[in-house]
Amino acid sequence: MKFTDVLQDLLFTPNCLFCHKYLGYGTRPLICHGCAEKYSAFEGRCSRCGSELTYENGLPVCHTCKTARYSFDGVISAYYYKEGVRRAIIEHKFDFYHNNAKTLSYRISEIINGLLKEKRADYIIPVPPDKKRLNSRGYDPTREICEIIEKETNLPLLTDVLLKTKSTPNQSLMSYKERLKNIKGCFEIHDKTAIKGKNIILFDDVFTTGSTCQECSKVLKKSGAAYVFAATVSISDTFRK
Ligand SMILES: [Zn+2]
Ligand SMILES: [Zn+2]
Repeated sequence: MKFTDVLQDLLFTPNCLFCHKYLGYGTRPLICHGCAEKYSAFEGRCSRCGSELTYENGLPVCHTCKTARYSFDGVISAYYYKEGVRRAIIEHKFDFYHNNAKTLSYRISEIINGLLKEKRADYIIPVPPDKKRLNSRGYDPTREICEIIEKETNLPLLTDVLLKTKSTPNQSLMSYKERLKNIKGCFEIHDKTAIKGKNIILFDDVFTTGSTCQECSKVLKKSGAAYVFAATVSISDTFRK
């Protein structure tokens, strides 16, 4: 057991992050079996559309997403964005101590490691923060999780290339099309040579309608990225209904 885990368990009771059930000292990840099963959004297939993933040049690809209107090569997600998962992710956005970042990174790192066995991608790039929100919060919760995934997957983190250059109004009540319009032109590539021909895992905390992942993937591919596969902690389950 790591010293940091001992310390965390002394300061905070080791409960399941999603349902608060007591798990016992030293248990990692801080997710109970019931929640791991209940919220699981990954069964070896694309988490957005449920299609089978095939391998091209050693990397996983979802042909349903690719042949549809999407610029990304597929989506993997650890959990459905609902109830306890939703609450934990929202709490993480406002948690100064970042206690939940490690627990939230655990399953998606495991899935990435399982899928990228044949070949590693070149980079993991987090969806960049909205500057206004970053300034008011003081830290970037998506990047916090991504930094842990970098350590757990050995995928180099690239943070200064994909940038969000325009602020967007809150889009929680908008449809996919409205969101896409809202977010269009908000992302830019700072250094195209850094991503030319590269295989990229694009990371975000939540995949709701897919508009953010779509816009980021489009910008990355237009700037020369060869492959962009989205990996998120959670995904809205409305796609499966
Ligand atoms: Zn639980
Ligand atoms: Zn798909």
